[in-house]
Amino acid sequence: MFDPVVIVGAGPVGLVAALRLQSFGVPVIILERNAQVQNDLRASTFHPPTLEMLDDFGLTEGLLARGLKTPMWQIRMHETGEKAEFDLAHISQDTKYPFRLQVEQNVLCELATKQIGGMADVDLRMGHELGGFTQDGDGVALQVKDLSGKNYSITTPYMIAADGARSFVRKSLGLKFEGHTYPETTILVTTKFPFHEHIEGLSNVNYIWFSEGTFSLLRLPDVWRCSLYADKNQALEDALHPANIEEKLQRIVPKDTPYDVEEIRPYRIHQRVLEDYRVGRILFVGDAAHMNSPSGGMGMNGGIHDAWSLTEKLPKVYRGEANVTLLDLYTKQRLPIAKDEILKQSHKNRSRMQERDPAARRQELSRMQAIAADPAASREFLLTSSMLSGLHKSRAITE
Ligand SMILES: Cc1cc2nc3c(=O)[nH]c(=O)nc-3n(C[C@H](O)[C@H](O)[C@H](O)COP(=O)(O)OP(=O)(O)OC[C@H]3O[C@@H](n4cnc5c(N)ncnc54)[C@H](O)[C@@H]3O)c2cc1C
Repeated sequence: MFDPVVIVGAGPVGLVAALRLQSFGVPVIILERNAQVQNDLRASTFHPPTLEMLDDFGLTEGLLARGLKTPMWQIRMHETGEKAEFDLAHISQDTKYPFRLQVEQNVLCELATKQIGGMADVDLRMGHELGGFTQDGDGVALQVKDLSGKNYSITTPYMIAADGARSFVRKSLGLKFEGHTYPETTILVTTKFPFHEHIEGLSNVNYIWFSEGTFSLLRLPDVWRCSLYADKNQALEDALHPANIEEKLQRIVPKDTPYDVEEIRPYRIHQRVLEDYRVGRILFVGDAAHMNSPSGGMGMNGGIHDAWSLTEKLPKVYRGEANVTLLDLYTKQRLPIAKDEILKQSHKNRSRMQERDPAARRQELSRMQAIAADPAASREFLLTSSMLSGLHKSRAITE
C-alpha cells in the first residue's frame, strides 16, 4: 500500500479533488489550517458543468436545495432599465443544468466535508497547517503543525497544493505568479433589502451601468450581494464609511429608511497565473495556480475543473500504471484554459462594466442585445460564459 496523497487546503477545490481521488481508490490526507469551514463572502455562482461534476458525488442535489436556480442573467443600464438578458435555455441541449446556481461556496464545503467525514480512506485534518516541505525523486516530506502546537511530519508520493491565492506552497517554491492587480477595490456589501421588488425585471445576477459608475446585484437565497466602488476622486477609506455605503445604496433604490447592511468586505482583484502547474511531485490547482476577476463567477468553478482534470490522471501515476509525465498533460490541458478562457473572459467582463464612456456603453449594450436576441449567437456566447466551451477545448488536448 502506498502512502496517501496529501492535499493542502480544504477549500472547494481541495475537497473536490479529495472526493474524486477517493472515488478512484486513492487514499487521501487533507490538511486545512482553519479549524472549521470558512464562510467569508466568496463564490456565489456555480456554472452548469460544475453542477454536472458534483452530481457524481450527490452534492448537486444538496446545493440545489440551498440555492437559487438562475436561468437568466443580465447586463443593464440603471437609469433607463434597458437590458441585454441571456437565457440559458439556449444551452439546454448542451447541459443537464441550463442555469447558474446562486449558492455560497461554503455550502459546497460543508456538504463535501460532511461526506468526507464518513470515509475511511480520506483523513481530513482541520486545524493542521503545512509549515514546510522538501521533495526528492521519491516523494514529498511535509512538516505540519496542529492547533495544539504539536509538530509532526508526513511523507507522500504526491502533494496537491490547493492552498488558495496566497499559496504557501507556491511562495515556498519561489514560483513566478505573473500578472497584475487591478487598480480598483470592490466593496462587497450584503443586505436583505428585496431589490427584485423595486427594480423592474431584475434577474438574480445583474451587472449594471449607471451614470456615476457601475455596480452589480447578485441574489442568494436570503440576501443580496451588491458590489460597489468608490466614486471618482473618492478615497477608499471614505467610500467604506457607513454613511457613504448608505448613499451608494440609496442611489440604487432610494428609500425613506436606511438600508440594513449585514456585511461590508473590500477586496482587490488579481489576474495571475503560474507558468506550470507541476513542480516535480507537487501539483497546483485552483487559486494557488491562477487568479482572476470574480466578474462572471469563474474562479472556483475553474479550480474545480482543474481538480477534475488532475484527478483523472493522478490515480494512474499513483498506482504506477502510467509515467509521471502523464501529469504534464494536466498542465497542457488546463493552463491554456486559464489563460485564454478564464482570465481573458473575466477580464472582458470586468472591463465591460468598468467602461465609463456613454457611447461605448451604448454600443456594447446594443451588441449584447443582438446576441441575446439571436438563439445561435446566444448559444455560442453562453457556452463560453457558462464555461462549457473551455472544458470542451481542454478535453480536446490529448498530448
Ligand atoms: C468576492 C468574491 C466572489 C467570488 N465569486 C465567485 C463566483 O461566483 N464563482 C466562482 O467560481 N468563483 C468566485 N470567486 C473566486 C473563489 O472564491 C475562489 O476561486 C475559490 O475560493 C478558490 O478555491 P480554492 O479551494 O482554490 O482556494 P480557497 O477557497 O482559498 O481555499 C484554500 C484553503 O487552503 C487553506 N490553507 C492555506 N494555506 C494553508 C496551509 N499552509 N496549510 C493548510 N491549509 C492551508 C486555507 O485555509 C483555505 O481553506 C469569488 C471570489 C471573491 C473574493
